[in-house]
Amino acid sequence: MLIQMSEVMNVPNGLKEYTAPIEFDIFELNGVGYSITYKEPVKLRLTNLGGRKILVEAKTKLALAVPCDRCLKEETIQQDIDVATEIDLSKTEEQRTEDLDETNFVSGYDLDVDKLIYEEVLIGFPMKVLCKEDCKGICKVCGANLNEGECGCDRTELDPRMSAIRDIFNKFKEV
Ligand SMILES: [Zn+2]
Ligand SMILES: [Zn+2]
Repeated sequence: MLIQMSEVMNVPNGLKEYTAPIEFDIFELNGVGYSITYKEPVKLRLTNLGGRKILVEAKTKLALAVPCDRCLKEETIQQDIDVATEIDLSKTEEQRTEDLDETNFVSGYDLDVDKLIYEEVLIGFPMKVLCKEDCKGICKVCGANLNEGECGCDRTELDPRMSAIRDIFNKFKEV
């Protein structure tokens, strides 16, 4: 949804509130799509600060299904978005780019709610997702989820560093 910021620009000390739906169901990052399993409408508040500056406040809650880094089981990642950002409409888009201003959800006087929320989801996206601290992952030989039980495959030869360590231990034992 696009919000026309001119609606609040033209009102001195103007304040306007909106409720906007999140219009995407998939969050895409580096070519991978993560399903949004829960979302609330975005509560937006625009305040005219004067001098062509607008304060944008946005609040929403959503949840994403993100696979565990080790076993790929999908975990629900909840995000509470509560952001306040000041937009200087006297800047051109070129100036914003030069200033490394992150507000690419603004185009002219339009505010793109989906882009604003996308950026916040990105900022809050976890670096690492584990279903549990000690997730055992999947067997590299047969693909079994090792949290559900040992499959019996011999995986020790797959990691050369581990076999080097094992050799050292074996030597100690021999001494
Ligand atoms: Zn896991
Ligand atoms: Zn296995």
